[in-house]
Amino acid sequence: MVSYSKRHGTISGLGLSRRFQCGAGSGVISVDPFGNVYPCHALHQQEFLCGNVLTGDLKKIYDSKPMRICRETTVDSKKECSSCDLKYVCGGGCLATTYKLYGSLKARNELLCPFYRKIAIDSLWDSTR
Ligand code: SF4
Ligand code: SF4
Repeated sequence: MVSYSKRHGTISGLGLSRRFQCGAGSGVISVDPFGNVYPCHALHQQEFLCGNVLTGDLKKIYDSKPMRICRETTVDSKKECSSCDLKYVCGGGCLATTYKLYGSLKARNELLCPFYRKIAIDSLWDSTR
């Protein structure tokens, strides 16, 4: 079977280049009732605390380690996902779910991968219409 990427060249040519599944740490942040900031509403653990909007500097919060780690966790940085034919359609899945299941942002989410693959394939079919 010929892979999708071999048949069609770069998927980005179809406007389907997703290096991330979401915008955690970039387009998404979450602030709790006390002003504490996290990269996403599902990553409210101490290790993802980025600072506090009531007392801290916004640039420092944006540049904090948890924010940077989320921004740097591209699908290519995930070892098992980096060779996936659908990686730039899928984007690698939800960071928070992966962290909660495997204790790492960079693991492949074995539980949800079949679901992500189905969504990615459906997206490709949709893009041909
Ligand atoms: S479909 Fe599965 S293996 Fe492929 S990028 Fe998504 S999570 Fe990773
Ligand atoms: S819940 Fe998952 S998909 Fe949504 S912003 Fe957080 S890490 Fe990303």
